[in-house]
Amino acid sequence: MNDYSENLLVHFRRVESLKDEAVNYVSVDLNKRQLCDLELILNRAYYPLKGYMGREEYESVLDQMRLTDGTVFPMPVSLDVGEKVSAAIKVNDKIALRDEEGFLLAVLTVSDIFKPDKKREAFHIFGTDDPETHPGVKQFLHSVKDLYLGGLIEGIHYPIHYDFKDIRFTPSETHRKFSQNGWRNIIGFHVEGPLHCREKEMSLLAAREAGGAIFMQPTVGLKHPGDLDHYTAVRCHQAFAKKYPKNMILMGIIPLRKRSAGPREALWQAVVRRNYGCTHFMVAEDHADPFDTDPSGKRFYPLGAAQALVQQYQNETGIRMVPLKRMVYSEERAQYISETDGAEGMTIKEMSREELKRRLEYDLDIPEWFSWPEVINELKHAHPPRYRQGFTIFMTGLSGAGKSTLAKILLVKFLEMRHRPVTLLDGDIVRRNLSSELTFSREHRDLNIKRIGFVASEITKNGGIAICAPIAPYEESRRYNREMISKCGGYIEVYLSTSISVCEQRDRKGIYAKAKAGKMKGVTGVDDPYVPPANPEIIIDTSEVTPEEAAQEVLLYLEEQGYIR
Ligand code: ADP
Repeated sequence: MNDYSENLLVHFRRVESLKDEAVNYVSVDLNKRQLCDLELILNRAYYPLKGYMGREEYESVLDQMRLTDGTVFPMPVSLDVGEKVSAAIKVNDKIALRDEEGFLLAVLTVSDIFKPDKKREAFHIFGTDDPETHPGVKQFLHSVKDLYLGGLIEGIHYPIHYDFKDIRFTPSETHRKFSQNGWRNIIGFHVEGPLHCREKEMSLLAAREAGGAIFMQPTVGLKHPGDLDHYTAVRCHQAFAKKYPKNMILMGIIPLRKRSAGPREALWQAVVRRNYGCTHFMVAEDHADPFDTDPSGKRFYPLGAAQALVQQYQNETGIRMVPLKRMVYSEERAQYISETDGAEGMTIKEMSREELKRRLEYDLDIPEWFSWPEVINELKHAHPPRYRQGFTIFMTGLSGAGKSTLAKILLVKFLEMRHRPVTLLDGDIVRRNLSSELTFSREHRDLNIKRIGFVASEITKNGGIAICAPIAPYEESRRYNREMISKCGGYIEVYLSTSISVCEQRDRKGIYAKAKAGKMKGVTGVDDPYVPPANPEIIIDTSEVTPEEAAQEVLLYLEEQGYIR
C-alpha cells in the first residue's frame, strides 16, 4: 500500500499473512462494477463506510437516505452475489474478494446475507421500478445479482490499474494537493462525456461565483481496457483541463459508476466529492438524468430537482451546491452568455452531439466557437473519418450464390487501392482453419458465424478491411455480428439473393447433386433453412449481373458512404 494507508478507514493487513489465510476462504471474483465500489470503499471515497452495508443499514439508506447513525448517505452499497456463493457461506465467514484475474484485493467478514427487494430498491433510488421508462432501472435489474452481502472489509491491495496511474488520486492525495496549492474553496466538477468551450465557460462562471478552484473528476472504470473510448475520453479531458487559467483546476479520474438516478445520485456524488476534499459541488439542472443527452430535450427528473436536493442537505453534508448554469454562444457578442440573461434576440449557435459525430465521421469543419483543435484531434483519433475507418463486408447467401467469387474480386480491388490491409474470411477457409471441429448443426453454424464476426471486428477495429463470405443462414448470429462490428467501424451486409434454382444449376461444389441423391444432409436451401436478412445494406441477385458488375455495385456503395474515395 502507499504512504496514506495509515489514514485509511478500512484496516489494511500485511499481505503475506492474509494471503495465506485467504487460501481457505470462499472467493468472489468481482466484476468491473463491483471493483469500482471496492476501490472507493478502500480509498475512503465512501466515508464513513468501512465495508458493505448490512440489511439494517441498507433499509435505512433506502428509506431515509441516511445510515443508521443518521449520517446522510443516499446510495446503498452492498456486495451482490449469486445463489452459488450465498449457498457456500454463512454469517461470520470470511470471503476473499478478488479481481477478474483472481488477484486478492480484500477480505470481507460477512455480517449479513440478505435478499433485497430489488423493485423496492429501484423505486427508492430511481423513483420508478419500471425498466421500460428508465434505462438505469433496466440496467440495475438486469446486472445486479439477487443476494446481498454486508460486512467489514480488510484491505490488501487497491484494484490494479496500468493506465493513467498519475491521475488516479485517492482522497488523501487530493486533500494534500489542495492544501499544497493553497486552495480553500474547491468546487467539485463531475464529468462524464467529452467537454468543449461551452462547458469550460459554464464551469468557470460557477467557480467564480463560488470563489474557488475546480477539481474536475471524470468517471472511468466500467469500460473494457481495450476500449479505445476510455483512452480518448481521458485524453480529451486532459486537453480540456489545459484550457483553464493556471492554478485554477486539478484533474483526477474516479472509478465511480454511473447510475443515472438523478437527484439522489447528485447528492451521492456530492458526498463522495466532499470526501475528496471539495467544499462545493457543481450541479446541472438535469444532473444524472438518464436522458441528459437526448437531443429532443426529454428528461426523466424535473429540471432543477437535483440542484434542490443537494442544496437541501448542504449543511449536513458539508458541501455546498453550486448551480451549473446553461450557456449559449452568441454570434453578436462572439462569446458564451448565460441562456437566461440577454440571450433573447441574439443569434445563438449550438451544435448537438449527433452533429459533432456526423462532422467527425465525414471529416468536416468543427468551428472554433465550439471546441479546440487539441480536443477535436483526440476525438478524431477515436472517431476517424470513414475513409480512415476499418470496415467489414459481410456476405450472406446460399451456396453457389456467388459469395466467394464476389469476395475474390473485391479482395483484388482493395489490394489495388492499397489504402488498408485486407483479410478474406471465406466460408470454406474459415471452416478449415478456424472452425474445423464444428458441424453444420444450427448451434455450430451460429458459433462459426460468431467466430468470423469476432475476427472481423478485430480487423475492423484496427483499421483494416474484413471480407466475410459464409452462408450465415440465421438472422440472430448476423445481428450479433452487426452489433459487435458496427462499434468498431463500418459494417456492410451484402445479401446475395440468387435463387435456389440458379444455385442448383451452377452447383459448383456438387453439393446440390449430392443432396438430391440423398448422400448429403443439412444442405442450406434444400433440407436446412435459409432466413434472408431483414435489413441488408446491399442486395444483389447474381443471376442478373456479371461478377464484375456485382463488385462495382459494392464499390459504389462504399464510395457513396464515404468509406473509399
Ligand atoms: P458461393 O461462395 O456463394 O458458394 P461461388 O462464388 O463459389 O458461390 O460460386 C458462384 C458461381 O456463380 C461461380 O461459378 C460464378 O462464376 C457464378 N456467377 C455467375 N454470375 C455471378 C455473379 N454475378 N457474381 C458471382 N458469381 C457469379
